[in-house]
Amino acid sequence: MIEISDLHKSYHMGSNSLHVLKGIDFSVKEGEMVSIMGSSGSGKSTLLNILGMLDEADLGSYTLDGKLIKNLNEKVAAKYRNQFLGFIFQSFNLINYKTALDNVAMPLYYQGVKRAERMEKAYHYLEKVGLANWASHLPSELSGGQKQRVAIARALASDPKVLLADEPTGALDTKTSCEVMELIQQINDEGKTILLVTHEDDIAHMTKRIVRLKDGLIIDDTIVTQVRADEARRNAEAHV
Ligand code: ADP
Ligand code: MG
Repeated sequence: MIEISDLHKSYHMGSNSLHVLKGIDFSVKEGEMVSIMGSSGSGKSTLLNILGMLDEADLGSYTLDGKLIKNLNEKVAAKYRNQFLGFIFQSFNLINYKTALDNVAMPLYYQGVKRAERMEKAYHYLEKVGLANWASHLPSELSGGQKQRVAIARALASDPKVLLADEPTGALDTKTSCEVMELIQQINDEGKTILLVTHEDDIAHMTKRIVRLKDGLIIDDTIVTQVRADEARRNAEAHV
C-alpha cells in the first residue's frame, strides 16, 4: 500500500539547515496498523506529512497504492489525497461554524458528491462513531473525545485506502484516549490500513507494529501483540 525508500528531508532556515529524515525505508501492507514512535522533534510529523502528500521529500521514492508520488501538480495531488488518504490530527481540525454532520460531509463536497448523498453518507459515518444524536451540534458543544470521533468520521467519509493519524490522542485524557483507540482498532479490524504517530508507548502498543524513529533513522521495526483499548480502559479504571 505504502512503500518508501531512502527518504530524506531537510528544513532550511537562512544559512542553517536541519536534516530531519536521513534515509527512511519502510513499507506498509494493506490492512496493517502501524505506529511511528519517537521523541518530540524526531521527525514523526515530517514523515507523516510526506506520506500524506502535505509535504515533499528532498530525496528518495514514495509509492502509494502502486502510484509513484513525485512532482505531482497541486490538482493531481489534491485528487490523490482525497481519494487515498484520510487525516486525523491531535487538534481535531474541525470547522467551528459547521455542525458535526457538515464537518463529516466536507470531503464528499470536494469529491463532487451531490448534497443529498453527502448528507446520507455523513450521517452513516456519524452513526458509526456513535454520534448520530449529535449531528446538528457545533464542535464547541462537543467534548474532546466527541470532537475526535467527528474527525474520524470525516476521515472515513471518503472511504480512503489509508488513515493517517498524527497524535490522535495527544489532547485527550487516558480514558478518552482508550475510547478513541477502541474506535480506531475497530476500523482496522474491518480492514482499513492505519498509520498512527505517537510518542506514547501505551498507544503504540494498541497498534500491531511499532516503527521507532531516532536521529532521522528507523532504529527498530517490530510486530507487537496488540493491546486491546477496551481492556486497557478497564484496567485503568480498576486502578483509580
Ligand atoms: P515530531 O513530530 O517527531 O515532534 P517534527 O517532524 O514535527 O517532529 O519535527 C522534526 C524537526 O524538524 C524538529 O526539530 C522541528 O523543529 C523541525 N521542523 C519541523 N517542521 C519544520 C519547518 N516547517 N521548518 C523548520 N523546521 C521544522
Ligand atoms: Mg509531531
